[in-house]
Amino acid sequence: MIEATIGQALGAVKERIARAAERAGRRPQDVLLVAVSKTKSAAAVREAYEAGQRDFGENYVQELAGKASSLSDLPDLRWHMIGHLQTNKAKQVLKIAHMVQTVDSVRLAAELGARAQQAGKRLPVLLEVNVGAEEQKSGVSLHQARDLMEAVGQQEALELRGLMTVPPFELDAEQTAPYFRRMAELREELGGALLLPELSMGMSHDFEVAIEHGATMVRVGTLVFGSRT
Ligand SMILES: *Cc1c(COP(=O)(O)O)cnc(C)c1O
Repeated sequence: MIEATIGQALGAVKERIARAAERAGRRPQDVLLVAVSKTKSAAAVREAYEAGQRDFGENYVQELAGKASSLSDLPDLRWHMIGHLQTNKAKQVLKIAHMVQTVDSVRLAAELGARAQQAGKRLPVLLEVNVGAEEQKSGVSLHQARDLMEAVGQQEALELRGLMTVPPFELDAEQTAPYFRRMAELREELGGALLLPELSMGMSHDFEVAIEHGATMVRVGTLVFGSRT
């Protein structure tokens, strides 16, 4: 079986990011690719790193900690926490993560803020918004977002960078467009791109649609590392 290498897959995704940005009248360099490595080996992450990739996303704290330790010789590799984070794991994640994209409660914001303060760090964070109001999904509702934003604002050691979302999973990528549009509107309602520069949205099946609607970070796993079993 002939498969593309991780480096080739990364190149193809970057090319599609650039074309989607151009179609939207945006600059390709204004969209960051976060390669989602959950369930994949540290060796696969290293291969992507060697191909020039620096930003990686992980969902589970234990898995993140294991890979971060295996790859600690790569100092400019940046880990993004993109899975639900329990407050009792905040301290551990703070040591490793460059950014926590999934701040979804006032309680988590307070805990991360207090831990970052103790560690003398400033932690960039995104607010996770459950834009589809799905029962089983984490993230605050659209109408709770402002309260969470204010709670993060009270934490001196947290640096609020923007919003993150996972819309309802639809087979047709175009069906995700209204959700991405709603996120762009929410950002305007909360103060606009100056206050909230980042919009983390779009995955393997819909990142081009997300870029058309203003995504500044796309989280792509399957297209880079292959399908997860
Ligand atoms: C797994 C995951 C991704 C990547 O999904 P793919 O479909 O493999 O690109 C992106 N974001 C989050 C929050 C995820 O859990």
